Amino acid sequence: MNRAFNKTSLKQLTGLLQRFQSTLVVAEHNNEKLTPITLNAITAASKLGGEVSCLVAGTNCTKIVEEISKVQGVKKVLVAQHDSYKGAMPEELTPLILATQKQFSFTHICAGASAFGKNLLPRVAAKLDVAPVSDIIEIKSPDTFVRTIYAGNALSTVKCNEPIKIFTVRGTSFEAAPTEGGDAASEEVAPTSPTGISEWLEQSLTKSDRPELTSAKVVVSGGRGLKSGENFKLLYDLADKMNAAVGASRAAVDAGYVPNDMQVGQTGKIVAPELYIAIGISGAIQHLAGMKDSKTIVAINKDPEAPIFQVADYGLVADLFKAVPEMTEALSK
Ligand code: FAD
Repeated sequence: MNRAFNKTSLKQLTGLLQRFQSTLVVAEHNNEKLTPITLNAITAASKLGGEVSCLVAGTNCTKIVEEISKVQGVKKVLVAQHDSYKGAMPEELTPLILATQKQFSFTHICAGASAFGKNLLPRVAAKLDVAPVSDIIEIKSPDTFVRTIYAGNALSTVKCNEPIKIFTVRGTSFEAAPTEGGDAASEEVAPTSPTGISEWLEQSLTKSDRPELTSAKVVVSGGRGLKSGENFKLLYDLADKMNAAVGASRAAVDAGYVPNDMQVGQTGKIVAPELYIAIGISGAIQHLAGMKDSKTIVAINKDPEAPIFQVADYGLVADLFKAVPEMTEALSK
């Protein structure tokens, strides 16, 4: 006997299918503060149309759970607390995500495309025997994603046919989800037994009163043109006048002027601040890949032919050793 069916449009059918999506966002945090890229990942997850859950794994993360419960778009917060989650080591978090997946059968699992997400999700994907999609910048449909290739100079649209879609999200390509107005329920999940493969001992972070590079509204970056690590003081002084973060080109990092967590670019951090000031940086494509989405780009370079001027909104052809102290002084007045 034929079943009676409701006549439906493609749009209605898509909407119906979207309701069956359920996405797990793995939250990045340090038990005290949520890393902002998680909010961008939540926005990406919300675009899939289904229910969004967040996994918070940590040692004492009640504060984070409260914070995420209020984020718009999150339906459920799954909480796992255990000493072995100290330092958010992928060796310990992978079994937890696998167990959570077994329990809830999500259609999608994602995290920010930060060192945390890029370290963790490929392991989860390998264990689930699916291919992950990294660093997505747009969601076309629940199985079709856009990502950049060739140092950000080309876009590739991929259709993911895996039964579970696992992806990392480029933070600068999605707005941060609003941190007020949500009302998610929280639920404890049983922590997995420690694997003991690795043991977290300590972390030594660069101490800085300046804002974090990937979320700063203003970034001042220096390149090989600075000529030494000591000369970066010129940039720190300028940055402090503008409440800016300080970044660097790979050439400056490789020359040992600054630590590599300051590197902006294809193999460094991706930033998209309101204002990016490139000083003594030539503008190689690998550097542009990390900053070309900045709202306003200012370049200071003594070579008028430097490629950075092709992407700059404002360009100053000048010797940085003269121009930068003058700018700092002008801002002090
Ligand atoms: P240079 O190209 O040497 O430019 C220095 C600039 O300073 C010049 O334009 C010069 O005119 C200017 N200058 C010198 N003195 C002064 C002065 N007194 N006043 C004003 N201007 C002055 N690079 C990155 O930045 N990030 C990455 O993530 C990255 N990933 C890479 C990945 C791969 C696989 C490869 C192959 C390369 C990568 N690179 C990356 C390196 C990149 O190709 C360039 O070599 C690098 O960006 C150059 O850095 P720079 O602009 O500081 O140095």
